[in-house]
Amino acid sequence: MSQKPKIKELLDESACAHNKTRTQACNAPTPGATTGGCAFEGAQISLFPYADAAHLVHGPMTCLASSWETRATQTDWPGRDLTQMGFTTDISLSDVVFSGEEKLTKAIDYIMTHYSPEAVFVYATCVTAMIGDDLDLICKQAADKHGVPMVPVHAPGFVGSKNLGSRLGGEAVLLNLIGTLEPETTTPFDINLIGEYNVTGDMWQYAHLLDELGIRILSTLSGNGRIADIRCAHRARLNVIVCAKSLISLTRKMQERYGIPQVSLSFYGKRDTSAGLLAIAEALGNLDLIARTKALILREEAKLEEKLKPYRALFAGKKAVLNTGGNKTWSIAAALQDLGIEVVATAVKKATEDDREKARQTLGRDGVLMMNPGVEQAKLIEEKGAHLLLAGGRSLYTAIKKGIAFADVNQEKKKSYGGYEGLLNLAEDLKHALQNPVFTLAARRAPWEK
Ligand code: SF4
Repeated sequence: MSQKPKIKELLDESACAHNKTRTQACNAPTPGATTGGCAFEGAQISLFPYADAAHLVHGPMTCLASSWETRATQTDWPGRDLTQMGFTTDISLSDVVFSGEEKLTKAIDYIMTHYSPEAVFVYATCVTAMIGDDLDLICKQAADKHGVPMVPVHAPGFVGSKNLGSRLGGEAVLLNLIGTLEPETTTPFDINLIGEYNVTGDMWQYAHLLDELGIRILSTLSGNGRIADIRCAHRARLNVIVCAKSLISLTRKMQERYGIPQVSLSFYGKRDTSAGLLAIAEALGNLDLIARTKALILREEAKLEEKLKPYRALFAGKKAVLNTGGNKTWSIAAALQDLGIEVVATAVKKATEDDREKARQTLGRDGVLMMNPGVEQAKLIEEKGAHLLLAGGRSLYTAIKKGIAFADVNQEKKKSYGGYEGLLNLAEDLKHALQNPVFTLAARRAPWEK
């Protein structure tokens, strides 16, 4: 049976809130969609944090380079971190003519001999999908030969956007890994973290709190993930979607197949971290757990408020423009509000309909949702009198030109902003940005220009 997922179904996910009204599909490809990252890139980013697996790109060398190591995902996998290796079949012209299947088989054999991973993800790319290499067959033969899962990932770039690629990555995991192993033990408080990639160690900011409450992270997709754990994910009592609606198709299907309910939440900012912890406890439905979670929240919030005191005066009256994508359009906005900073605009161009709705709720009536941030952000900084721009590295020059402070909140950021402790990291970074004289100095006109 073909392992290829039904793209049409993923383009129009029934579990998305906006689809309840049947107005529009969330992932329909638009011309130029791959310029923000192709589907292959999205799939690889979703699965890359599995450091005990090899990630083999079946395509030209350039595909590998487009997404390798683009995020600072962290792992404490004690073995060799295989995401530090870039594996590719490096398809050439003769492979296009005579097929790249033999090369793929040899590449898998090489990886198994030299690196012994727990699984191999084999990514289709535009070229190998078009020439029709049979990934399913090669992976099945290799799995029989080597005795570890070989996961064909059918997300060639041309099928659509990065977001769709993430869904396809989730499909590959569902079809090939989840439910293929039984855990040694189970507990009534086993959860899967779905869509948590542990970028800069975000997950570690709250994992110890879950641990303290007796909530066990059975598996993750895929931050600090282990292949053996995700194979047991069907035994969890709850799927926790962390800030990433791109994997909602996966959790819906797990609910249908294994009866696992889901909650969707964010661990950015004080209010959302507290609400997230409580939502997990309530979804697990144990009264004692709920009471203990409430007590833990009170304790952690009090600790946090004490530590935030020195920042309050500095942030009072400050306004920020936020230019990022996906769930961060609202989750980082909420974290800024927790610090006492007003968010006057957020970019929603790269957000799903659900994220846009949440951004609207978070910013309120006066906040601007930017559909074209490249043009709008500079104008809004002036109009709204913003003091801060939080965005990806490319927007640094806008901040310099406008003479306002800048902080990087995209994948290039170095510190975690997740959980209670992460909010303190954000406060410290923003303090440094606001106090850094370089922004105002760089915006000054030269004396002869006056
Ligand atoms: S999969 Fe296709 S769109 Fe993506 S990097 Fe490769 S060639 Fe480009």
